[in-house]
Amino acid sequence: MEFKLTELPDTQIPTSSLTRDDIAKKIPGLLSLYDEFPHIIYTASDPVFETISPSFNRGTTTRPLAVVRALEESHVQATIKAVQAAGLQFAIRSGGAELEGRNFRGIGSGVMIDTRSLCSIKVAEDKKSAVIGGGTIAGDLALALSSQGAFTPVGWHPRLGYAGWSMAGGYGMYASSYGLGVDHILGVRIVLADGSVVVADENNHQDLLWALRGAGNGIWGVVTQFTIKTYPAPKLLIGSVKFAKKDWPAVMAEWVKNIEPNLPEELAGDIYFRNNDLETPEMNVLFAWCAKEGDDLQRGWDYFEKIKSLPGADVVRIGECEFLAVD
Ligand SMILES: Cc1cc2nc3c(=O)[nH]c(=O)nc-3n(C[C@H](O)[C@H](O)[C@H](O)COP(=O)(O)OP(=O)(O)OC[C@H]3O[C@@H](n4cnc5c(N)ncnc54)[C@H](O)[C@@H]3O)c2cc1C
Repeated sequence: MEFKLTELPDTQIPTSSLTRDDIAKKIPGLLSLYDEFPHIIYTASDPVFETISPSFNRGTTTRPLAVVRALEESHVQATIKAVQAAGLQFAIRSGGAELEGRNFRGIGSGVMIDTRSLCSIKVAEDKKSAVIGGGTIAGDLALALSSQGAFTPVGWHPRLGYAGWSMAGGYGMYASSYGLGVDHILGVRIVLADGSVVVADENNHQDLLWALRGAGNGIWGVVTQFTIKTYPAPKLLIGSVKFAKKDWPAVMAEWVKNIEPNLPEELAGDIYFRNNDLETPEMNVLFAWCAKEGDDLQRGWDYFEKIKSLPGADVVRIGECEFLAVD
């Protein structure tokens, strides 16, 4: 079964309303692209530009001169050729969750290639792999796979682009049981700097595949499609526990002494600190127990009791759940 664009949220935006004159005035280097594909280039004069141009990091005020929303691989190829010919800077975006806005550096006079609409998801008959678009985000992937009894590790947040997340390493609540995002990339279709498309997998361009699995995201080209490893869906126990500031020293001491040295393989999580209203700083323990194939969640529930017994533990939530990215 293939999930079409229309069935997934946030992938469709109105086609660009810009005219050839607009492009000629704002970014003449993209005129040849406009002549081939007139409705995929957005600049500040288009009403949806403000929605699709900002960085996830609100401190980043730079906006690209133009965003090209690729609806198919040939749009990426044509854009790469156009920006190369015009000598324009460009950057790549899928989920848009680059925390520091690094892909916005120098883009004020350049082009953002937005792959978000390349988001089809197709699970193989044997459910051991799936072919997904280069703009697929974690939440859509989790839902689509889950509905077919399949699973693959994703990050903690549903908006994370699989591309940016996996090629940057890709940790998350399943990492200790299943490995990182990079471990799950079996192959890609990628548009290279000259606009050509190659397949990198175990039989083709193995050196490129090796680079894509750990040498960073966005360096080697624009990935339009991934083939990724999938599994039968595991059982999950997910929760979070918060601690007030007065308890932090005792919690950390207990953690270092009794929890950290014997972390079970099924346990993944995060500890983070926040101070939403600047009055009540809290420490949060995100708890994720991913049962191994054939196991139930009893050991996870037992282990959660250990977290619950830490000084001042205030359980925010705990429950068994389907394979879903946590919001
Ligand atoms: C709220 C939040 C939660 C997070 N949680 C986790 C987590 O649990 N685990 C974790 O490992 N990381 C986490 N991160 C970090 C996140 O995985 C990285 O910032 C990642 O790069 C974001 O990917 P993206 O595709 O969403 O971002 P984007 O801004 O779209 O892209 C980031 C970079 O990836 C490259 N890229 C994007 N799409 C493509 C493509 N199609 N082809 C080639 N290169 C591409 C580009 O170089 C771009 O600069 C989190 C970040 C945030 C903001």
